[in-house]
Amino acid sequence: MSRAYNFSAGPAMLPEPVLRRAQEELMDWHGSGMCVAEMSHRGKEFMAIAAQAEADLRELLAIPSNYRVLFLQGGASSQFAMVPMNLMRDIGRADYLNTGSWSKKAIAEGHRYGAVHIAASTQSERFTRAPAQHELDLSTTAAYVHYTPNETIEGVEFPYVPETVAAPLVADMSSTLLSRPIAVSRYGLIYAGAQKNIGPAGLTIVIVREDLIGVTMVGTPTMFDYRVHAESGSMYNTPPTYAWYLAGLVFQWLKDLGGLAAMAEINRRKAERLYAAIDNSDFYANPVEPSSRSWMNVPFTLADPSRDEAFLAGAREQGLLTLKGHRSVGGMRASIYNAMPESGVAALVEYMAEFERTQA
Ligand SMILES: *Cc1c(COP(=O)(O)O)cnc(C)c1O
Repeated sequence: MSRAYNFSAGPAMLPEPVLRRAQEELMDWHGSGMCVAEMSHRGKEFMAIAAQAEADLRELLAIPSNYRVLFLQGGASSQFAMVPMNLMRDIGRADYLNTGSWSKKAIAEGHRYGAVHIAASTQSERFTRAPAQHELDLSTTAAYVHYTPNETIEGVEFPYVPETVAAPLVADMSSTLLSRPIAVSRYGLIYAGAQKNIGPAGLTIVIVREDLIGVTMVGTPTMFDYRVHAESGSMYNTPPTYAWYLAGLVFQWLKDLGGLAAMAEINRRKAERLYAAIDNSDFYANPVEPSSRSWMNVPFTLADPSRDEAFLAGAREQGLLTLKGHRSVGGMRASIYNAMPESGVAALVEYMAEFERTQA
């Protein structure tokens, strides 16, 4: 068996030790005689798996006790609506930072529920950098400030956490959560679809401060009410049990590795290596301002786009998969989430140099 290096932006690679463990436990989880996917979500076996996963996530991120952790479905895209439905309250307005394709989608959905004020936008610069704190035109009356710390498509990552006037900060961390330590207390709410850096598709993690739970907009569906999920331990209905279990294995893998500080060091090395290969060549280019470059998603173009198909075909032959850039921006994109080993980045860098040599 040979495993490829898969640079997909999501669903993305899972750590090999996690897949092996899942394989070992597939037919009979810990002597239960059941696969986790076959268990009742209210049975003692799954309740233990769920509780352990939450405890491990809380430990990894040092989540304060006044925050609730929810294990939901619906993807990050459902949070684009769930956030305004739960947080706009009687204020009816919110600030959004427009920094790329995903924040644009969040903004479009926000408009359906209240007044959206764009506190910053880098659209006229084709989303090639994060705006600086002093550029943010934050209102004093916003119910919350929404931003996207890592824009998965453009490869732009905020190098700082924005300060708000008074409003809680809401962050779509779908493609960066668990890539490094964060101070959860700086945020009112964090959400992330799991399929980038956490686990398989089908699970969405929400970390929300308790005081932001409990007042929803008229007409909010039961399933979109944070309070319902918080009060039922994310078991109001059937949660995505197998995805929850796999995410739990990822959390244990991260703890074994030394936690998020250790993971961040590895991620920094991987990103530096790949950006250096791009910057030290006239054949490859990355359009993002260096201080805003993502550790997780690295878009790059070839000087001669007519060689794109040859580049991708040669990469596939080397077991380097899914390097094609997002259809909206073209070129290439290497997503190098936690589960991408350093050897995968090394193999990509080596292939890029070899491809450039044979083109010259
Ligand atoms: C992938 C992604 C989304 C969409 O996630 P779904 O789970 O497919 O809804 C939203 N925001 C960001 C930053 C993403 O990377």
